[in-house]
Amino acid sequence: MRGMERILELQELDTAIERLEHRRAQLEAGEELSAARKELEVAESQLGELRLASDAVDASSRRLENEIESFGAKLAAEEKRMYDGTIVNTKELEALQHEISNLKERRTRAEDELLEQMERREDLDARAAEASKEVDAARIRAEAVGGDAIRELDEIATGLATKRAEREALIPAFDEDLVELYDDMRRQKHGVGAAAIDDGVCQACHEKLSAVELDKLKHTEGVKRCEYCRRIVVFA
Ligand SMILES: [Zn+2]
Repeated sequence: MRGMERILELQELDTAIERLEHRRAQLEAGEELSAARKELEVAESQLGELRLASDAVDASSRRLENEIESFGAKLAAEEKRMYDGTIVNTKELEALQHEISNLKERRTRAEDELLEQMERREDLDARAAEASKEVDAARIRAEAVGGDAIRELDEIATGLATKRAEREALIPAFDEDLVELYDDMRRQKHGVGAAAIDDGVCQACHEKLSAVELDKLKHTEGVKRCEYCRRIVVFA
């Protein structure tokens, strides 16, 4: 049987080709790129939410500032009334004093709330700055993954062309029957049709062959096969 001594070379080429094809399929499915894009989307949406929250804080700050201003104007008017001689009796004076202290209280409350909003805004700004950095980093990652995938696909195309040419050049070294058996085994046995026997152990199925079987194989002229997995075997 011509070519038995080179069958492992063929197996190596086929394993390499299969690995490259598998990697190409992975890249073409774009799983890494879509994962990177997903990360970018998440980062962008977090940043968007923080910005919306900031806008809401700004709106309520503006409302509070207006309130404070209007309380201030009312207070100034009421305090002016205290002294302009329009108040003629104690009851009116008491009512006015009550109104003034009420306005002061409401203004203080609005000022406290405004302070809280300003603190919230500071916190949101800090978190938005972090989120913005994350968006930038995620964008760079996504672009890098995209670029890497294109480069790797190019390399795979070159690698596949080389390996296939080598395979084609090697095929005439074998008897047709041997290639047929080998291809048949590869189809049935997860891509591995031929393996070495190393120290009495089949390197494909990892079974240790019996001494009798090993002796028999050593004296077999034609195709040697593993007694367990039936693959073509070659002594290492
Ligand atoms: Zn085996």
